[in-house]
Amino acid sequence: MTSPDPQAQVQELRRQLQALLDAAHANERKLDRFDALERRLMAVSSMEELVNLLLVDCRDDFGLDAAELWLLDPEEELRRALPALPMVKAPRLLDGHAPLKDLFGAARTTRLIGPGPDAPLLARAFEPAAGVRSAALLPLIRQGLLIGSLHLGSRDPERYDAASGTKFLDRLAAIAAIAIESMLNRERLRRAGMTDGLTGVHNRRYFDHRSLIEFSQAVRHRYPLACLFLDIDHFKAINDSHGHPAGDEVLRQVGGLILRSLRTGDLAARYGGEEFVVLLPRTDLAGAREVAERIRLMVQDATFVTPEGGTVSATLSVGLAMLPAEATRFADLLSAADRALYEAKRGGRNRTLATADLSAATAAAS
Ligand code: GH3
Ligand code: MG
Ligand code: MG
Repeated sequence: MTSPDPQAQVQELRRQLQALLDAAHANERKLDRFDALERRLMAVSSMEELVNLLLVDCRDDFGLDAAELWLLDPEEELRRALPALPMVKAPRLLDGHAPLKDLFGAARTTRLIGPGPDAPLLARAFEPAAGVRSAALLPLIRQGLLIGSLHLGSRDPERYDAASGTKFLDRLAAIAAIAIESMLNRERLRRAGMTDGLTGVHNRRYFDHRSLIEFSQAVRHRYPLACLFLDIDHFKAINDSHGHPAGDEVLRQVGGLILRSLRTGDLAARYGGEEFVVLLPRTDLAGAREVAERIRLMVQDATFVTPEGGTVSATLSVGLAMLPAEATRFADLLSAADRALYEAKRGGRNRTLATADLSAATAAAS
């Protein structure tokens, strides 16, 4: 029997030590990467920054091939907020829990999945074009509720396997969930500060601020800006005969009809009690009249259902003024539209009247 060669033994020990050191260094680098990502997650200041961080930076920093973010959005808050934001890749918004339940079942813990029996799950969690063959699916949980999931995918079938630890990933999921929730709360507060609670259109405060920006841009770039004042006819009578809650419901639904008639970039606000104001940038008189008439006819044809289940009908009158034809200052544009509204009321209500019509009538009379 030959005794082991001491030289070979030392070499083998050296090799084992080096392997341990390599593993320790690799772990340290991984920890540093997670740490850097977590710090950035805690510091994000906007929804688009957060989404870009989770979907783009996260994928690139960890050398992954795909990342997906699913977010529960039953109230469609995100659906309304996100299209306006500049994002390289958008999250998938879910209106119900079912897709998340499909991924996590009752366990709601991080899942590491590879090819084989889990392949159908990969196909659900990623776009097929990404060619993902192994993945980590991270449940995002806040206050005991599953609010979404983050999917990290690799084309390497062995990048994630069920036997690996998930400590780093669990921590990342917890921090991502906190960052998402606090961003949503911030977004809700921001929106609440500029929205009229009853009708969902912007409030007067936001209008006063935004309208000046719209005005100066229209002047600087020399495009027309149309201003509509819309006031519900005999609204006091609706309150008097059907009750204040019914009046509220009419207001709420009229706000919704106005919003639905506008394009992105238009601005609608509740100016006062039952009066709305709309600004249409880059819209000429004919175009603005069309928008005003569309809203007027929709309101005229609508049947408003009251909280008690009764029905009410309503009409509104519209005053319309144009920049630069009728005003050079913003306050003058508003008062020109208000004057036209007054004449629309005087002329019998349920009609659209433009300042241009008033001057034409004056010219014809003289
Ligand atoms: P006109 O056709 O001349 O516009 O008549 P009107 O009755 O609509 O106008 P008036 O200014 O006389 O009455 C407006 C009413 O709107 C009075 C006020 O109590 C009611 N109002 C204002 N804000 C609200 C609200 O938030 N909810 C309800 N239900 N009523 C409101
Ligand atoms: Mg009125
Ligand atoms: Mg009024």
